[in-house]
Amino acid sequence: AAAARVLADVQAEVEQLHAQGIEPALAVVLVGDDPASHVYVRNKVLRAGEVGIRSLEYRLPAEASVAEVLDVVGALNVDPAVHGILVQLPLPTHIDEVRVLQAIDPGKDVDGFHSENVGGLSQGRPVLTPCTPAGCMRLLRDTLGDLSGKHAVVVGRSNIVGKPMAALLLAANCSVSVVHSRSIEPQKLCSQADIVIAAVGRPGMIGASWIKPGAVVIDVGINRIEENGRSRLVGDVDFAAVQPVAAAITPVPGGVGPMTIAMLMHNTVLAARQQTGQA
Ligand code: NAP
Repeated sequence: AAAARVLADVQAEVEQLHAQGIEPALAVVLVGDDPASHVYVRNKVLRAGEVGIRSLEYRLPAEASVAEVLDVVGALNVDPAVHGILVQLPLPTHIDEVRVLQAIDPGKDVDGFHSENVGGLSQGRPVLTPCTPAGCMRLLRDTLGDLSGKHAVVVGRSNIVGKPMAALLLAANCSVSVVHSRSIEPQKLCSQADIVIAAVGRPGMIGASWIKPGAVVIDVGINRIEENGRSRLVGDVDFAAVQPVAAAITPVPGGVGPMTIAMLMHNTVLAARQQTGQA
């Protein structure tokens, strides 16, 4: 429901831009054959179409060189009809991910991974914010309203989820703890939190004893497990165990995933407005 609200706002903004002759456009660059990446890209392109954003797909083979990927990004940077550029991660191991992400024009960096956008976020002047943490913030504000003074624990410190998540929570006046693989007694830290964000990549790691009664739990993890000969997606939180303890909890699938895509659409429209002087 929260994702649908974001998308409805985006669609209204797209219609306004169309009325001014501006067609927001998102370019998605996909390198290689990772099946999950193909699914993610398909979902992003589908959602873009639904809200009226034009999408362009650039598919390169797994053996594409860094230079070939940089050529595509370079051409998209200077194309005035393209407002957002997304390079789907992970890239094949022979390609330097940082080099590719840093090549994207920061104004078109709708994933918010360029150091200029990361720096803006950490200095408290965010422009294009990473989509997954931005989606988590929408869910938290929808549930709790003002987050001031809340103790938030973020489990995971990756550049794409954990670190920007912590920066956003800090900007919202939370007291923030970041737990990672070297943390001592992570369970004890989590059990003191008003808000727990799990972004680890370990199926069901966070059980009921990690959660303070009445806490709000956001499960970012997406893990594929095999159970009784069938494959299914689960989060980093043991949903069945934690749901009775928490005041609110996001499911996997169907929780943070749809919010991530909705915020990508939001960022694309924001980028289009900025590039066309409509901000
Ligand atoms: P990542 O880069 O692998 O980072 C995982 C983090 O978890 C690291 O900081 C690691 O600590 C920490 N960690 C690992 N084991 C731990 C343990 N036992 N205790 C405490 N911390 C531990 O993963 P990511 O890219 O952030 O993604 C995390 C999960 O979110 C994955 O399941 C991914 O699929 C999912 N995800 C979902 C979405 C969405 O749209 N829903 C978007 C992005 C990612 P160290 O730094 O010390 O190694």
